[in-house]
Amino acid sequence: MDLEKSLRHYFGYTSFRTGQKEVIEALLSGKDIVAMLPTGTGKSICYQLPSLLSSGVTLIVSPLLSLMEDQVQQLRSNGIKSVAAINSFLSKEERHNVFSTLHMYKMIYVSPEMLQIPYVQNQLSKIHISFFVVDEAHCISQWGHDFRPDYLRLGQVKKALGNPPCLAITATATKEVQQDISVRLQMNDPRYLINSVDRPSITYQVETCETNQQKMKRVEQLVEYLQGPGMIYFSSRMWAENVAATLKRKGFGRVAHYHGGLSTEDRLLIQQQFMNGQLDVICCTSAFGMGINKKDIRYVLHFHYPVDMESYVQEIGRAARDGKPSVAILLFCEEDRGLNTLLLEGERATDDQLNEMLNHVKNVRTWTKEQERMILERLNGNEIVWRIVRYQLETRGIIQGDQVRPFSVDSVRSRIREHEEERLKSKRKRLETFLRWIRTTACRREKLLFYFSEQLESRPKNCCDNCGATLPMFKNEKEDKVEKIESWRVLLGDLFGSSVKVNEKTK
Ligand code: ADP
Repeated sequence: MDLEKSLRHYFGYTSFRTGQKEVIEALLSGKDIVAMLPTGTGKSICYQLPSLLSSGVTLIVSPLLSLMEDQVQQLRSNGIKSVAAINSFLSKEERHNVFSTLHMYKMIYVSPEMLQIPYVQNQLSKIHISFFVVDEAHCISQWGHDFRPDYLRLGQVKKALGNPPCLAITATATKEVQQDISVRLQMNDPRYLINSVDRPSITYQVETCETNQQKMKRVEQLVEYLQGPGMIYFSSRMWAENVAATLKRKGFGRVAHYHGGLSTEDRLLIQQQFMNGQLDVICCTSAFGMGINKKDIRYVLHFHYPVDMESYVQEIGRAARDGKPSVAILLFCEEDRGLNTLLLEGERATDDQLNEMLNHVKNVRTWTKEQERMILERLNGNEIVWRIVRYQLETRGIIQGDQVRPFSVDSVRSRIREHEEERLKSKRKRLETFLRWIRTTACRREKLLFYFSEQLESRPKNCCDNCGATLPMFKNEKEDKVEKIESWRVLLGDLFGSSVKVNEKTK
């Protein structure tokens, strides 16, 4: 089969990027695969092309609704119409239409939560699934950033669907996570197609600031100085909002904030504005970014440092998708240690919360959406705390579908505490490792690759601050333009003998 010809035919690309063809060939030969391709390489093609070249339906498990919708839109605008997304956005009528014609699609995107619904599983088990794909597969690992129990159950779903060849694909997975993914998905003799996580066009920098005020000043300087568009990451919604407001107040016009607390409409609007080039800077939390395919992001700043190397690599990986030089600058401040510890500890239920949740479950016989809503309301929406507890209740058969079995609060409580402790231990360890990376005086790229068990093969010219890279090459062209305008004004002044006033720079 001439894969290059098919690539051209369906997507208009003349050649494969590193790693794509190997994954496609292995999948088409029926293998189970764990694949890692660096951020922005084009992971989607790895399963989209095989799906178009085989009979049956490819099922793609995707973690985010917006990501699914984007992919479906993109495929449709490429002329590939036989795609659908099964998620909570579908109206009853649309859902009915999709389910009555499932076998006619080539690709079906589905959220892991949807796949847990018996009706959905049942309908899918009636059609021929050619490939079972898990996108952003690092979410599967129990050591992953976010605890997503529905991801942990995908192995059972795959089995219920007749164990089709399976591809788990991600940009960031350590050896431990790669193993965990294959075990969770109950893969059969999997092949590991692991490419380098390195992004040579991104320069790494870390700057230390004494206080958050100093950091704010530095952000202003950098936003003024650097060529945009850019992103600034925060660990707190409040900080993202405040810094965006300060930048706007100071005249940096096209700035917006984005976090999980905004309404769906606002989030979509801001995302669209950023994608369309109507914003220069976006101040966001980690809620922004996954699946954002904007090619020309020139810098990613970290106002707060993320909790591990994987998150860092995902976040900075949003820069330089067009392969042009870009910079990632992390602003480090000792004060932030407290915030990150708080973030980690915040995933653990307090004694009161835990007792309340367990007693709530103990006192009901049937489990409904309303029960779930009540619990989340009492936790002020701290979903992860509940997810961890619910997972334990489900794996011990206490909550089974809509049934609740009697249980001993004491023994379940201690098991939950053990599980939380194990998770926290692993998270603290990764946080410490990342802090060591921040403080290192050795080559940052080498250290980053070492974390993913890789060796640096060739060092790019502008590698990192510790290798001597500096900022001037990332300077905003706008400055030059202003200088050029100024020199014109001087020239005109000279010519006409008048003093032409130079206007203030527009920001
Ligand atoms: P990610 O690896 O981040 O998931 P995507 O699948 O969204 O990346 O693809 C990133 C971009 O690269 C998309 O615009 C896609 O169309 C483009 N792309 C993917 N494969 C190729 C290729 N072989 N040649 C040219 N462009 C490609």
